[in-house]
Amino acid sequence: MSAAQFEQIGQVLRENQRFAVLSHVRPDGDALGSQLALGLSLKHLGKDVLIWNEDGMLEKYNFLPRAELLAKPPTEPEDVDVAVALDTAIQNRLGTTVAAIKSAKVWINIDHHPSNPRYGDIAYIDPHAPATGQILFELMANQKLPIDPAIAENLYVAISTDTGSFQYPNTTARTFEIAGELVRAGVDVGRVSQLTYENYPRRRVELLRDLLGTMRFDANDRVASFSLSLATAKRLGVLPEDNEGLIDHLRAIHGVVVAVFFEELADGKVRVSMRSKSEKVNVCAICETFGGGGHVLAAGARVRGSLAEVEKKILEEVCNVVSRSSS
Ligand code: 5GP
Ligand code: MN
Repeated sequence: MSAAQFEQIGQVLRENQRFAVLSHVRPDGDALGSQLALGLSLKHLGKDVLIWNEDGMLEKYNFLPRAELLAKPPTEPEDVDVAVALDTAIQNRLGTTVAAIKSAKVWINIDHHPSNPRYGDIAYIDPHAPATGQILFELMANQKLPIDPAIAENLYVAISTDTGSFQYPNTTARTFEIAGELVRAGVDVGRVSQLTYENYPRRRVELLRDLLGTMRFDANDRVASFSLSLATAKRLGVLPEDNEGLIDHLRAIHGVVVAVFFEELADGKVRVSMRSKSEKVNVCAICETFGGGGHVLAAGARVRGSLAEVEKKILEEVCNVVSRSSS
């Protein structure tokens, strides 16, 4: 099944010339690393490649090889032969990149979110893959697409960040085999890990200090949460990317089953981020009831309302689900 689909995708990649490689708003390491990896591989094949993200390249991922290729979409839409959506559970999370594509003969959708509704002409969705970067490695290896050291490093960061440094339960023997292949292809693990995990701006830790001040526990300490108001974000001068991963401090607490992070947004909504430590508590299902999605153990949603309203509504539901799971 997957070999036939890889062949189909490989054929489309080989037979066309002009590509747009896209990913989701508020990108993470998997999104950006995957975009650059596929984009660079296509460039090696002599293709014209546009690599667009609504948010452009994030400061913290500026070290990714050929980061300068990742751009914000132009205001004038362009024609391409093929548009590829990576790591993007629903099409509207592609944000303004969609409007920048005037026409595309083929839309390819490559992702690992179980909630992905398989939009596009060719959808390759593998919910067992811990990262879109892992699917891309399999595709590239299967279709003998170029993997040079720059591509390997982008794929390595994609996989490393989406597995929480090879810790989350969806990390398999295959993930380590692929990481091994990428190291053989030129990845310097110490250097890349330092750039990825030991290179944060000071304001990120100042943000963590503030978040811990708002920390609360519910459902007999099995639910932990903290929240960030617009006022605090402004006072500390934090960027949206600064909070990626901070929720892990809540998940890491003994006895905590679900961690929730609330972030007040400027558009009257609250971004809700959830992590679960138990397969019995599916946070994707919880987020879906609020219009979001994601994975069983990591999901999110944007919910309209004030910070206090959304906190109350979400925590009630999370506590209900957690209580039911342990009864
Ligand atoms: P994070 O909490 O790191 O922002 O997101 C965790 C997971 O949930 C990611 O896989 C992401 O794709 C998904 N996710 C986060 N926010 C949303 C959202 O608003 N809608 C949907 N459908 N998925 C989301
Ligand atoms: Mn991902």
